[in-house]
Amino acid sequence: MGPANPTARMADFDLTPEQRIVRQTVREFAEREILPHVERYEREEKYPLDLIQKLVPLGLIAPMIPQEYGGSFLDVVSYGVICEELARVDWVVASVVSVTNSLVGGSIVRRGTEAQKQRWLPPMARGEILTSACLTEPGCGTDLASMRTTAEKVAGGYRLRGTKVFISHAAHAGLFFVAATLDPSKRHRGVTTFLVDPRSEGIGIGEFPMRTLKRDNLAEVHFDDVFVPDDGLLGEEGGGFPVLGSALDMGRYSVAARCVGQAQRCVELALAYAGEREAFGQKIGEFQMIQSKIADMICRTESARGLVYRLGRMKDAGVERASMEASMAKLVASEAAMSNALDAVQIHGGYGLSAEYEVGRLLLEAKALEFGEGTSELHRKLIAEFALGLRKQ
Ligand SMILES: Cc1cc2nc3c(=O)[nH]c(=O)nc-3n(C[C@H](O)[C@H](O)[C@H](O)COP(=O)(O)OP(=O)(O)OC[C@H]3O[C@@H](n4cnc5c(N)ncnc54)[C@H](O)[C@@H]3O)c2cc1C
Repeated sequence: MGPANPTARMADFDLTPEQRIVRQTVREFAEREILPHVERYEREEKYPLDLIQKLVPLGLIAPMIPQEYGGSFLDVVSYGVICEELARVDWVVASVVSVTNSLVGGSIVRRGTEAQKQRWLPPMARGEILTSACLTEPGCGTDLASMRTTAEKVAGGYRLRGTKVFISHAAHAGLFFVAATLDPSKRHRGVTTFLVDPRSEGIGIGEFPMRTLKRDNLAEVHFDDVFVPDDGLLGEEGGGFPVLGSALDMGRYSVAARCVGQAQRCVELALAYAGEREAFGQKIGEFQMIQSKIADMICRTESARGLVYRLGRMKDAGVERASMEASMAKLVASEAAMSNALDAVQIHGGYGLSAEYEVGRLLLEAKALEFGEGTSELHRKLIAEFALGLRKQ
């Protein structure tokens, strides 16, 4: 087990006995099977396919996919706890679960035809295919309504043309969830979502080099006249924004939960270091300025966790769209992960940036969490617009 968690009692207070078992099971699994390998995979820039496969027998890869399609279909709070505990040890493995369930699988469950569900969900639940969400483009990330990847209606289907960037898991995916526009001049009313086989003719996958998360093998994906049959349309023509809206609602929930896990890890690593490192004849944890950082780190983590669990309970109670609450959870949790990583590095001194310690890696990985599924600026804007009545749930 890792270092002690002083707020375990509080963190578990809101959970049912079954949800506590989920946390305990995932934590033990993640510490035993994943954590020991993460640093090496990052050094070797190796995608953790074998670690991801270990999720399958425990049903952790498809907690939001209904059992009739082979998933384990747990409650939303348990799903958040799974994302939290996996992210506490590894960004990439947690990302697979989040993309599979919130973005791609969840969109098929909510909007797919029966044939699409039968075709795609069982192999996803068996871990036979991973998925990628292809949304971001070189010219647009936050402003998805200005996307330039086009879908032209042709006999029997559509032709996709354009480029997507920053695509996680793309080189290993067996299914792409793609947003393209039927008519760029229609902005969000033109955006349409598709389920695309990555082996289709005309798809090119190139490297997208990053300074962090090298084990994620981020890619750019080129669509060069790619034919997508009619049965690849997910939802309706021009109906992509509502599909993306529900997907991002759940996506932001799972990313927020991942941020809590990473913030928690920083607390634990900082406590362990502050309790053993000495300066001026005493443990650095006895210095008030170090204590102040630790107190802030713990409070940030618990505030974020409270928002995330409450959002999960809202979803479990049947609230389908909780966009304002999802933005609040994502904003607070991603900033907690980032601030905690900064403080944890500071507490480690220069060793915080040495290859020997995990916290330096967590710093850039926390930064990435402030971008995915909406930047902090976007979430501040959304929260204020909801509050001012300028935007409806
Ligand atoms: C590690 C990683 C993995 C990713 N994985 C995926 C993936 O799998 N699939 C995918 O599609 N994308 C992925 N992304 C992309 C991610 O979703 C985008 O980076 C994000 O949406 C922001 O878009 P952008 O980077 O183009 O920034 P921009 O949208 O260009 O924003 C630049 C800056 O301007 C600010 N800004 C923009 N609009 C406003 C506004 N209205 N008001 C105030 N400020 C504003 C932003 O907050 C930001 O600070 C990933 C990114 C990272 C870092």
